[in-house]
Amino acid sequence: MRNSYRRLRAASWIVTPTIALIVLAYLLSASSSYRAKPIPSAAGDLSGFSALAPIDIHAHAFINDPAVTDLLKRLNLRILNICVVVQHGRGYDEAAPLNRTARQVLHSSGGRAAWCSTFDPQDFEKPGFADRSNKILNQTFAEGAVAVKIWKAIGMDLKKSDGSYLMADDPVFNSIYADIAAHNRTLVAHLAEPTSCWQPPNPDSPDYGYYSQHPEWFMFRHPERPSKETILAARDRLLANNPKLRVVGCHLGSMEVDVDEIARHFDRYPNFAVDTAARVQYLMMQPPEKVRAFLTKYQDRVIYGTDNGLEPGADPARTLPQWNERYLREWRYFSTHEWIEYKGHKYRGLELPQPILRKLYHDNAVKWVPGILGKE
Ligand SMILES: [Zn+2]
Repeated sequence: MRNSYRRLRAASWIVTPTIALIVLAYLLSASSSYRAKPIPSAAGDLSGFSALAPIDIHAHAFINDPAVTDLLKRLNLRILNICVVVQHGRGYDEAAPLNRTARQVLHSSGGRAAWCSTFDPQDFEKPGFADRSNKILNQTFAEGAVAVKIWKAIGMDLKKSDGSYLMADDPVFNSIYADIAAHNRTLVAHLAEPTSCWQPPNPDSPDYGYYSQHPEWFMFRHPERPSKETILAARDRLLANNPKLRVVGCHLGSMEVDVDEIARHFDRYPNFAVDTAARVQYLMMQPPEKVRAFLTKYQDRVIYGTDNGLEPGADPARTLPQWNERYLREWRYFSTHEWIEYKGHKYRGLELPQPILRKLYHDNAVKWVPGILGKE
């Protein structure tokens, strides 16, 4: 009895480590095949990002400083440098100086900062508006601009002489849209705002800080202004009326709270794509499986962008490290399975496969904004 017990005990000393070794070997092989899928590292480097020749389709570099080019070269990065007229915004109140600076940055960056030009929408009731705008835009096209920006003042701020708000599908823009399409350029459209703009102030909202600083754009305080639905309905008519015009909707097309809403628009409007600028946190806030499925199904329609900015008067030495930080955080979100800590929350990385990352970070920008690489 005692002998057989000893034998059993001896056998268990052999069997248990064998099982442990098998389990360990299995775990190791599982984790190595798991790691073999995406490139990036937990150490937080951007080598996988740079390997894709990434394009940030939404940036605003309005200081012609060698530090911008240095950053772009170091990260093997290109940006679409977007001009935007912000009335009463310091240094942004008319198109001409913005277009001039963006053209300079295009050249000094060796073409890495592609140029998205713009026009002065506030003149829309002055005689000859469309012809004048087309002339300005065509000049920018001749000098290298590859896209044209329209901004949220259309729909939210600019009023017609009859007291109604100017909408993006107003006939006054028809010949401008036709001209952009005829030149095979792309319309970059920031219309409306996040839904939180129309809701009571909420410190948990990703946009709380912005509306605290910009109460003039906080529509909850301006109930007389058009609803988000009204503004986006006009945007949708613009898409339907101009099927040959490629439109990139900035900031997830202002449909940031639910990717299903974006999906419905993609199904309806083949000429429509969106950028992720300043709204990646909204993707992080949705279930990762749902966002992954969306980015898989619509892998040709979503373009990486940040809204990274270098405003006139800003200090590049202070601002550009923040660009780098955002590229890193968002790269970790899209490409790894890590937990991303951001603004007091933890979000699970999507671990998108390499072919989808390549489209998100490079191919889709080239497809939706022909000429962004400096040749057509
Ligand atoms: Zn922007």
